Amino acid sequence: MGKTALITGVTGQDGAYLAQLLLDKGYSVHGVKRRSSSFNTGRIENIYQDPHEPDARFHLHYGDLTDSTNLIRLVQQTRPDEIYNLAAQSHVAVSFETPEYTANADGIGTLRLLEAIRILGMEKTTRFYQASTSELYGLVQEVPQRETTPFYPRSPYAAAKLYAYWIVVNYREAYGMHASNGILFNHESPLRGETFVTRKITRAAAAIKLGRQDRLYLGNLDAKRDWGHAREYVRGMWLMLQQEQADDYVLATGETTPVRTFVEWAFADVGITLRWEGEGESEKGYCGDTGRCLVEVDPRYFRPTEVDLLIGDPTKAREKLGWTHDTSPRDLAREMVEADLELMRTAPIAKGA
Ligand code: NDP
Repeated sequence: MGKTALITGVTGQDGAYLAQLLLDKGYSVHGVKRRSSSFNTGRIENIYQDPHEPDARFHLHYGDLTDSTNLIRLVQQTRPDEIYNLAAQSHVAVSFETPEYTANADGIGTLRLLEAIRILGMEKTTRFYQASTSELYGLVQEVPQRETTPFYPRSPYAAAKLYAYWIVVNYREAYGMHASNGILFNHESPLRGETFVTRKITRAAAAIKLGRQDRLYLGNLDAKRDWGHAREYVRGMWLMLQQEQADDYVLATGETTPVRTFVEWAFADVGITLRWEGEGESEKGYCGDTGRCLVEVDPRYFRPTEVDLLIGDPTKAREKLGWTHDTSPRDLAREMVEADLELMRTAPIAKGA
């Protein structure tokens, strides 16, 4: 008999890659999806299995991290060997607009899930993974950032995730639970949400190339991020739960790239060379070969408190888990642009990204 896993946030980027990985490893996978008035299972279409099939190993359940009764029932019904808590209001900028909801889903939601395990007396049989984040480091205290670097959250999202991080540590110490935090630096893929900066850039480069969009508006082009590939990061999540002892690990590439460089890469990949227009105060953005302005800085996208620099040190994960990454940020940009070009040629463009 293979193991059983419960994944919250299975309809998200990481949920889709992790579900695929666990199915490949012979797990039965139970995914939690939210009720939505529109279709929200696009990323897991390829692994969907008809529940009527007797040997189906992938099952979807309605649920929400703001509903503790629902979570208790799901854990009771599925009795998972491993729980991966990936569900979250995961967008930093949106967390400034919806701080209370973000705290409820991302912070208290994690507590609800841990309590469900405890209430059901499963703290010695169920292992727990928490999707912690490099946003915890916020205002730079040390470079590169590692497991021992002090946290300084700079958004309601990061503050909510800080609570989740520490409640996981506390339940591990208080109740002997096998509960681990993966402190993951940014990881992207063609499945990345359309409103996150990398995907917004690769979609726009493809759409502008195909004449389906005029201009891309962005916020802080000087923010630097450590970007890896989501497919490689979910392997790290799984490795954490296979260890004898639970612990907390940074997953990162150790390489940092300014947003403006990612913009230049993405446009180069569709054959457009960008030229920076303006200096100092009059800095406006990038123009293409024809002189037409294609990328503009819009201060509306600046955050009340910015995170300037993220760069992680994955040494502990490499030495203890044997985790490594292969994809460079440059290759990641290329893969995402190619996928968006393909998508753009066949699908309508969603507005509002
Ligand atoms: P996504 O935004 O792609 O996915 C988030 C998932 O959570 C979606 O399935 C979403 O459902 C679900 N969700 C949101 N709110 C709730 C709720 N209240 N109850 C139940 N489900 C909910 O995020 P990623 O896959 O990129 O990230 C996975 C996790 O890792 C998140 O917790 C994120 O904060 C964290 N993380 C991500 C990093 C990254 O670079 N990607 C870096 C570090 C941490 P729906 O599809 O219906 O919206």
